[in-house]
Amino acid sequence: MSQQHTSEQYFDESAAHRRFETLAIHAGNTADPLTGAVVPPIYQVSTYKQDGVGGLRGGYEYSRSANPTRTALEENLAALEGGRRGLAFASGLAAEDCLLRTLLAPGDHVVIPDDAYGGTFRLFAKVLSRWGVDFSVAHTSDPAAVQAALTPRTKAIWVETPSNPLLNITDIAGLAGIARSAGARLVVDNTFASPYLQQPLALGADVVVHSTTKYMGGHSDVVGGALVVDDAELADELAYHQNAMGAVAGPFDAWLVLRGIKTLAVRMDRHCENATRIAEMLTTHPRVSKVLYPGLPEHPGHEVAAKQMKAFGGMISFQVDGGEEAAVAVCDRAKLFTLGESLGGVESLIEHPGRMTHASAAGSALEVPSDLVRLSVGIESADDLLADLQQALG
Ligand SMILES: *Cc1c(COP(=O)(O)O)cnc(C)c1O
Repeated sequence: MSQQHTSEQYFDESAAHRRFETLAIHAGNTADPLTGAVVPPIYQVSTYKQDGVGGLRGGYEYSRSANPTRTALEENLAALEGGRRGLAFASGLAAEDCLLRTLLAPGDHVVIPDDAYGGTFRLFAKVLSRWGVDFSVAHTSDPAAVQAALTPRTKAIWVETPSNPLLNITDIAGLAGIARSAGARLVVDNTFASPYLQQPLALGADVVVHSTTKYMGGHSDVVGGALVVDDAELADELAYHQNAMGAVAGPFDAWLVLRGIKTLAVRMDRHCENATRIAEMLTTHPRVSKVLYPGLPEHPGHEVAAKQMKAFGGMISFQVDGGEEAAVAVCDRAKLFTLGESLGGVESLIEHPGRMTHASAAGSALEVPSDLVRLSVGIESADDLLADLQQALG
């Protein structure tokens, strides 16, 4: 963490062979050169003393451009996604905004999924559309639908897999081929899977997007976002815009995400184990009409998920017999599952997407079923979680 940031510095050849669990703990986490502190300090600082005009002592000049705690996180993110460069932002949407305003110009077009994260949809529909960026909505699980949505102006295909909240699965490698022949970039929002379960760059994606607020941070105590790319030129363009636009992760937030990531592998194992047990219970429950979980053999994306993911994740959605009011009542009756938005923390959450996270998609192509309940399955005792859901379902 000593030289001014260049794209090459983020790619440590000697560590590239290490396994995920090791990289999660060690990549970017070099002992502090001054004190030997094993954990990178929170460099809560805005500016750096220069050794004469233009002489940068440690490679840093101003913390919007680069900050050592953020550099540690960015190196870690790059290693975990197998990319050349990671960039940390103030939120997932700040990362998305920086990416899209780097890639796109007025007149350009993007294909987005028909169940994109509500905030992603809002960014396209309400913000970028005012700047002349056009988009089409397609069911990205179906490659023919994506192909049909392409125009000569399409510059990017946006994918979320598993998607939010319908847990649809998109074949990343398949869409990478379509994007390449169309001259468009393939962007994968990897928030639901995390790099432990799925590594989009290795499957042919150009850019990985994260809300690090979710599984990466993992403790519902920080809001953050990230981009990871392998292409050196794109990395430099994004870094330029990150500094020019300024929505960077602060040092304390970067430190919290870096801390969360150390346990990502063990947390994800437990999230997946607990979710599998809950999904199995829900499929046999008389009040549940449909369970959406890619780990279930009957899920339409099960085979693709098994091919591109290590396991099936901690998110489950299900539909409740009795419609919207019945679904809302289940959310209200849950006790151990906390009623709340967001996901990916150690504590289990329950919510009604139609009235909560996806309320802004009402009336659009992204509207979600009104009888849908979404679970973010935490890492508590699975037995306690099962008991709570059973009582909430009545
Ligand atoms: C939460 C979320 C985002 C947005 O991230 P913020 O950190 O809330 O800005 C983007 N994509 C997905 C899939 C998310 O769940």
